[in-house]
Amino acid sequence: MHARAAADKRLTSRSEVSTVEFVNESTNAPMRILIVGGGYVGMYTALGLQRGLKREISCGEATVTVVDPQSNMTYQPFLPEAAAGNVEPRHVVVPLRRVLRHCRVITGAVTGIDHAHHRATITPPGAEPYQLNYDILVMAPGSVSRVLPIPGLAEQGIGFKTIGEAIALRNHVLSRLDFASSIARTAENDDIRSRALTFVFVGGGYAGIEALAELENMARYATRYTGSITPRDMRWVLIEAADRIMPEVSPRMSQYTLDQLRFRGIDVRLSTRLDSVTDGHVRLDDGSSFDADTVVWTAGVKPNPMLDGTDLPRDSKGRLPCSATMEVLGTTGVFAAGDCAAIPDLSKPPGALCGPSAQHAVRQAKLLARNVIAHLRGKERAEYVHHYAGSVASLGLYHGVAEIYGVRLRGFPAWWMHRTYHVSKMPTLNRKLRIVSDWTAALLFRREVVSLGQLQHPRTEFEQAATRA
Ligand SMILES: Cc1cc2nc3c(=O)[nH]c(=O)nc-3n(C[C@H](O)[C@H](O)[C@H](O)COP(=O)(O)OP(=O)(O)OC[C@H]3O[C@@H](n4cnc5c(N)ncnc54)[C@H](O)[C@@H]3O)c2cc1C
Repeated sequence: MHARAAADKRLTSRSEVSTVEFVNESTNAPMRILIVGGGYVGMYTALGLQRGLKREISCGEATVTVVDPQSNMTYQPFLPEAAAGNVEPRHVVVPLRRVLRHCRVITGAVTGIDHAHHRATITPPGAEPYQLNYDILVMAPGSVSRVLPIPGLAEQGIGFKTIGEAIALRNHVLSRLDFASSIARTAENDDIRSRALTFVFVGGGYAGIEALAELENMARYATRYTGSITPRDMRWVLIEAADRIMPEVSPRMSQYTLDQLRFRGIDVRLSTRLDSVTDGHVRLDDGSSFDADTVVWTAGVKPNPMLDGTDLPRDSKGRLPCSATMEVLGTTGVFAAGDCAAIPDLSKPPGALCGPSAQHAVRQAKLLARNVIAHLRGKERAEYVHHYAGSVASLGLYHGVAEIYGVRLRGFPAWWMHRTYHVSKMPTLNRKLRIVSDWTAALLFRREVVSLGQLQHPRTEFEQAATRA
């Protein structure tokens, strides 16, 4: 096979980005493919390469290394359900080492890329950084919360992008209910109670709306067991800078979602911005202010700042500018996709770019794997074209909103569609079955509203015992 590889290496691609050799000419060693990030794009690209390299090129001619600070891929659309306790947190993540058996998986962050020398710096947690050479690079580090310099936000706020944040938020919300129901019912405590029971979400995209709706629905149920606290004692506030929520769906469905949230008593403030949240005192630009123990920031994402540590080109928003074949413009042997990449959306008028969504990320990754193989073989790479399928969102148990290929659904059918769609997209049969079994158990038993906040401070008790010893 190496002879074929050597012959193939002279073939050049007809795509606008030039090709690299099939085997490393100087060493005749297998080509080294490095994938930065093991999320949607990273994991699906590695899976595609794993299959494709075995079938089309043969093992030994290329190696695939995936680097991610986490040892698992998170299925982010299930984070709101995990936060609400409808599915086990462990079931919405996929262990990379188990599914990527023919790849090398490194748990660590890529903290630098010197593409001029085809070299990446890897920093494992708590260990010295080291360098790794590669021939082909796939950039898939995704995005991070787009946090604005609002006074107090960094100290008080929490994002909703990781499983850690989702579960911490669940524990925090339940702990606030426990706290509010446990303090003495005195007039002096009224302000403390109302602050504990005020939950503010900033950002009305689908991630923010789903997180808010699922947690409110869970907290409402939990008040059955909190004695003196009733749903009316809680205050849920959504702050959105635009004049509508959920830009991903049509204005009609957006209005329906807004009506649903308001019907549930959620205080939705459109065309409003958060000015400050110093010491838990929330100030809005409509002049109002109130205290809140909980401020969740879901106001958009920006490309992962790890890109700053690379010599790769960037566009005005910090993304990696790509061709429709997902090759980074002006480079050789570098591919990118997902939230960190600016990829033309060929289904729309010229100039449009694919938005940051799982829908694009999964499809891009599958084609990306084929394009990397085509690149290795000196063949032409295919362009990414995907016509938007629609959106599904859960608004709490048995409530949802969906718009798929122009068909609009609301309430229970939409919620059912949300679950069916996402479980069908959840990677691995193992995870699909575990999630369905979580849902089935939830039908048979009462809803789980236990708070395991102790998990966030596991050493506290031992430290206290040690201090007393
Ligand atoms: C709560 C929530 C709900 C969502 N719901 C939907 C939905 O219903 N439908 C939809 O289409 N989209 C949804 N999305 C968006 C979707 O999940 C993202 O667009 C998608 O995950 C992007 O894929 P990605 O591979 O680019 O990034 P990710 O999946 O985020 O993967 C990035 C990976 O890079 C890793 N990484 C970070 N830094 C480094 C580093 N320095 N070195 C190496 N690796 C690194 C991360 O650990 C992560 O594993 C949702 C997002 C959220 C947060």
